[in-house]
Amino acid sequence: MHDTAPLSDAVDAATHIPAGVYAETVTEVQHYTDRLFRFRIIRPAAFRFRSGEFVMIGLPNAERPVYRAYSIASPSWDEEIEFFSIKVPGGPLTEHLQRIRVGDTVLMRKKPTGTLVLDALLPGKRVYMFSTGTGIAPFASLVRDPETYEKFDEVILTHTCREVAELEYGVELVRKLMDDELVGDLARAQLRHYPTVTREPYPVMGRTTELMASGKLFANLGVPPIGPQDDRGMICGSMAMLRDTREALEGYGLIEGSNAQPGSFVVERAFVD
Ligand SMILES: Cc1cc2nc3c(=O)[nH]c(=O)nc-3n(C[C@H](O)[C@H](O)[C@H](O)COP(=O)(O)OP(=O)(O)OC[C@H]3O[C@@H](n4cnc5c(N)ncnc54)[C@H](O)[C@@H]3O)c2cc1C
Repeated sequence: MHDTAPLSDAVDAATHIPAGVYAETVTEVQHYTDRLFRFRIIRPAAFRFRSGEFVMIGLPNAERPVYRAYSIASPSWDEEIEFFSIKVPGGPLTEHLQRIRVGDTVLMRKKPTGTLVLDALLPGKRVYMFSTGTGIAPFASLVRDPETYEKFDEVILTHTCREVAELEYGVELVRKLMDDELVGDLARAQLRHYPTVTREPYPVMGRTTELMASGKLFANLGVPPIGPQDDRGMICGSMAMLRDTREALEGYGLIEGSNAQPGSFVVERAFVD
């Protein structure tokens, strides 16, 4: 989702910030690789969202800032907003965004949206969250939300990357979550993390679609193959990953849902190819 601020946006004369946009301070920045980093901003007091939704963000570095869609990686109860970001060489937003520091300002449009929300899924026993690359971001929000564990007995977070270093955000997230005061007990009892790598040696190698087709994923996790009665899915990755995973889930008899019509799996692009 690509966007520049429409010319009709009324701009506050004192701050030069368009109406409909928050300007918030960066509180933390952490780089993982030369392609990945995360950052946190102060959460505007009036900003409400559902865990798993995305929002448009930009930088106050131009008269008409470039806005890009970003999944909110923090849960809906958090006092800060977290994002997990790619660094695209020459990317209109991320070539600047990757240089932000604590104390800088990030612009965030006021209206969150998205389909990777608990409301779009029918009740079930187990929810799979399938992600590649930065597609883990909406699930970083959902696995930190107690409601996810109220709705499902078992939460399986899969994260596939080309290189081992690209898994670090998810590994660190899950490690911290296990000790979290609010959600730690639930996560220890109900969350399973299943990281896989495609281009380097790693304990589990390959795409989740291949690992499901071979049965290895289910054997590793000690769960039965996916079925429409008990299992629900959420998918976030590249277009090719969405297509393959959607096909696999449909093959198991799951039906795609939306906010308007909840189903047994939901899908969102992690970026526009
Ligand atoms: C619903 C939605 C949610 C998104 N959530 C996130 C998020 O949480 N974190 C995030 O980093 N990006 C996310 N994106 C992508 C984001 O909107 C931008 O594309 C990205 O920040 C790069 O911006 P840019 O202006 O630098 O380059 P762009 O001009 O936007 O992108 C240039 C090219 O870089 C590649 N690319 C862009 N984003 C990614 C990515 N995340 N991973 C791999 N390759 C990519 C694509 O090939 C793209 O054509 C999301 C996109 C959508 C549609």
